[in-house]
Amino acid sequence: MMAADSGATVLEKKDDSPKIPEIKKTKFDVVIIGAGPSGYTAGIYCSRAGYDTLILSGILPGGQLVNTTEVENYPGFEKGVMGPDLMIEMRKQTQRMGTTIVDDEVVNVDFRNSPFKILTDSEEYEGRAVIIATGANPRKLGLEGEQTFAGKGVSYCATCDGPFFRNQELIVVGGGDSAIEEGTFLTKFATKIHLVHRRSELRASKIMQERALNNEKIEFHWDSEVIDIKGDQKMQQGVIKNIKTNEETTLDVGGLFVAIGHEPNTKLFKNQIDLDDEGYIVLKNKTHTNIEGVFAAGDVHDRIYRQAITAAGFGCMAAIDVDKYLTEQS
Ligand code: NAP
Repeated sequence: MMAADSGATVLEKKDDSPKIPEIKKTKFDVVIIGAGPSGYTAGIYCSRAGYDTLILSGILPGGQLVNTTEVENYPGFEKGVMGPDLMIEMRKQTQRMGTTIVDDEVVNVDFRNSPFKILTDSEEYEGRAVIIATGANPRKLGLEGEQTFAGKGVSYCATCDGPFFRNQELIVVGGGDSAIEEGTFLTKFATKIHLVHRRSELRASKIMQERALNNEKIEFHWDSEVIDIKGDQKMQQGVIKNIKTNEETTLDVGGLFVAIGHEPNTKLFKNQIDLDDEGYIVLKNKTHTNIEGVFAAGDVHDRIYRQAITAAGFGCMAAIDVDKYLTEQS
């Protein structure tokens, strides 16, 4: 290197080599739609198996864990890990394995023939196999406080967050199996559960209803809705209203668990992939959908377990099924 005070004129080397336009790669062995734990895990396994793999992550990659705080039940983290940090690590690991990740939203798919076509606003991608890992979103109550106190009292997953609420009173909203199961589970930690349901009849299965109705720690608030969530740094109160009498009651609680169902992200696939009456993908055999070469993994088909670790497990299973499928094709 030339010394700075040498007095010599430093000439910038002119790059006059012909410009080669950058060719964006659009054809892959495997295209994975979605970048939650299932999508990233599928990416890791497909790339390690030697497949040219693309993840189309959507515009907000990371899935539901991006909206959580501490995750204590994902193996490998003795002291727990913050949800967004876990997803950044998964993304980096997936990229290190060689998966291409494009943060673009899929707007349409054509699964009529292989290679399958996956369209974003700006590009048309092709995959010899596709894994749908678009997840599901918990239904929201639609209250302003839900956003304000997300991760500060408001939760959508009792299994994930229950242990953070020891010795506190809590509200659980809903009347289905999830609300009853989660309410019952939360009695392990909470001093009292206020189960708020909009009707006077539960939708949950009889056996689960009976268990909850006989649980002394659960108080049912029938024909009621949560109308406000209050607090300072964290949630401290929930205001509920009886929709028959209009009576409002303020409950001093440390948390609110919303368990009013989930919505799988499957609108894109409606007329091509078999969905059940609630929109979840129906698996035909292992992780295969009704279209040979199109697979599904994670919460987009799993209405029961809905954990990051189970989603990751399904991602691994789908990738192994893809490997078998592509090997048989060649
Ligand atoms: P779900 O059965 O659809 O129940 C949702 C509940 O939330 C209903 O009680 C509904 O009230 C209420 N709700 C819906 N929107 C609401 C709103 N905006 N405000 C207030 N309340 C609202 O959902 P899920 O409980 O999540 O269960 C989903 C599926 O998974 C079901 O098939 C269930 O059997 C299954 N599951 C099974 C288990 C198990 O077997 N261990 C555990 C969990 C889930 P209404 O009743 O008035 O409609």
